[in-house]
Amino acid sequence: MSEDFYDVLGVSRDASEEEIEEAYREKAREYHPDVSDDPAAEEKFKKVKKAKEVLTDEQKRQAYDRLGHERFEQAQKQGGFDGAAGNGAGAGGDPFGGSPFGEGGFGDIFEQFFGGGRRDGPRQGRDLRTELEIDLEEAYRGAEKQFTVARPERCPDCDGSGHPPGSDSRTCPQCNGRGQETHVQQTPMGRVQQTRTCRRCEGEGTLYEETCSTCNGDGVVRNDATLSLEVPAGIQDGQTLRMSGEGAPGEGGGPNGDLLVDVRIADHPEFERDGDDLYYREAISFPQAVFGDSVEIQTFDGPVSLDVPEGTQSGERFRLRNKGMPRLRGRGRGDMFVQVQVVTPESLNQEQREALEAFAEAGGEEVEVDQGFFERLRNSF
Ligand SMILES: [Zn+2]
Ligand SMILES: [Zn+2]
Repeated sequence: MSEDFYDVLGVSRDASEEEIEEAYREKAREYHPDVSDDPAAEEKFKKVKKAKEVLTDEQKRQAYDRLGHERFEQAQKQGGFDGAAGNGAGAGGDPFGGSPFGEGGFGDIFEQFFGGGRRDGPRQGRDLRTELEIDLEEAYRGAEKQFTVARPERCPDCDGSGHPPGSDSRTCPQCNGRGQETHVQQTPMGRVQQTRTCRRCEGEGTLYEETCSTCNGDGVVRNDATLSLEVPAGIQDGQTLRMSGEGAPGEGGGPNGDLLVDVRIADHPEFERDGDDLYYREAISFPQAVFGDSVEIQTFDGPVSLDVPEGTQSGERFRLRNKGMPRLRGRGRGDMFVQVQVVTPESLNQEQREALEAFAEAGGEEVEVDQGFFERLRNSF
């Protein structure tokens, strides 16, 4: 990925702010480290986020366009564009602040999607996403699946506050405890006044002397959680199940986000699925095809018998009603379609050979089909 912020977001240099926000949302969805399996995702996500932060801030964008990428980065490292923001804990430095869960890190993505407001109000935690693979039989019967997911959880040592209980505190000098600061910008249109969350105290209005060492002040730690999920019978590949409250922890007393579980169904060696129907292939012998037979077909609920009629052609398909997949949250089942394949013997013993030669001499080599033969066969596929 090129370093240039416009390239990172895949937008043109005259893109509107809406276009940039939209491009950011798409990329963020793709690269969000909780979503993506790509080990480089976190790095890409950081770049995308940084690019969006700069390009959606009119002042920074002007500077970026004027200076170009490298000089802008240098100037920003020296604190050139965040003078008013005090210690530069926000957008000035590493947008992750050294922690994958720090404010200005993942927290912002939530605001981006859901328009969160002040940082000190209760906010719902982010939804997280994971993938769970099951096999077709589990989809057929429904299954209770246990799985482990790495997710942010409220730090147990500071209960999410980011500072040890009883830590000395003082009023934030940056915002005088209001949690918000006013920022005046000179633009070609004149002076623009913006009120935003105080970056020094992140909206709390209070600075604490000590930082929780367990979570480095983020209030959040990453834990492997083992969860149990009831997968309903009939679920389709690619469907998403929502586990309420199992996502990222809320802030300021807000509820947890949800965990979205994308269910993948592994290919089955014998059955193919199309919606609620199953497809199966069964090999039958030439005499079975000629004389008809009752053939045993395996299903997830044990063998069932299929009556193959006299004169069955190779490739013909038969329907076993209600032997397919259960309908998700519905009644009944789909069907199973069995396609028979007549097997031509590859080696014959003496007796079989003589019998078949006799069959051929008795006129068995004559092949006559009526006009609709191939048509009928095709229609049964
Ligand atoms: Zn902590
Ligand atoms: Zn403050």
